[in-house]
Amino acid sequence: MNSARKTYIIANWKMNFTPGEASLYLHRLQSRVERIPRNIQLVLAPSLISLQSLSLQINRRQFKLAAQNFNQNDFGAYTGEVSVMQLRGFVDYAICGHSERRYKFHETDKEIGEKVAAAIRNGLTPILCIGETADERKNHETATAIYAQLAGGLHDVSEEDISKVIIAYEPVWAISSNKGARPANPGDIEEATALIRKHISRIYGKTTAEEISILYGGSVNKDTAGGFLDVKGVDGLLIGNASLVADSFCAIIDIAKGKTNER
Ligand code: PEP
Repeated sequence: MNSARKTYIIANWKMNFTPGEASLYLHRLQSRVERIPRNIQLVLAPSLISLQSLSLQINRRQFKLAAQNFNQNDFGAYTGEVSVMQLRGFVDYAICGHSERRYKFHETDKEIGEKVAAAIRNGLTPILCIGETADERKNHETATAIYAQLAGGLHDVSEEDISKVIIAYEPVWAISSNKGARPANPGDIEEATALIRKHISRIYGKTTAEEISILYGGSVNKDTAGGFLDVKGVDGLLIGNASLVADSFCAIIDIAKGKTNER
């Protein structure tokens, strides 16, 4: 964690909770999470179907909402899709290029770049997820994969807009729902965040590279969150499974609060 940058704790609920369950869960979280310091931002990414109702219920001084996915076009003949333009009244953040979108729904770097641009165009903060697969790591292609995903995802992001982007490093082999998943070790994460800042520095300059927020995601739980937050270059966590249970998610929030008090 870096004292100049905010700490983000982001919950990706994926395709879990009915709208009623999501509302009850938010109620539980809001009554347990007390005052949040200004240098921590908590973000919840529920299913699309729950966004509108949660946006009315949410205490924005505690939590902000994020879309898990959206269509990159603002409107038009895209049956079944929802645009970020339609969502922007409900959310402040938009997850782009989660590995489940890349590998289960075959989203390309080009499409992900268009989504990042659409989020910025509509006044939202894109959270661009990148990370190598197990095979890429085994074949020493981690840097190549990270650079390609950054190049595609940031293709249409201008120098003026890059400060609006958050990057989440999520190695695919560390995501808990993937077979054989294991959390990344601090060395791997530090190396990856350094690669990300190097790429950003080449394109947007050194100051931007120092200022951009980079999160880690992959099998984070309450026992490991503190260690990940201590990794140099990491500004927060993107959490899947452990964000679905109030005890574990609130414990992670408390750890982040403790760390920001230490600063
Ligand atoms: C994710 O899917 O973004 C994620 C980080 O999941 P988990 O925490 O369950 O590994």
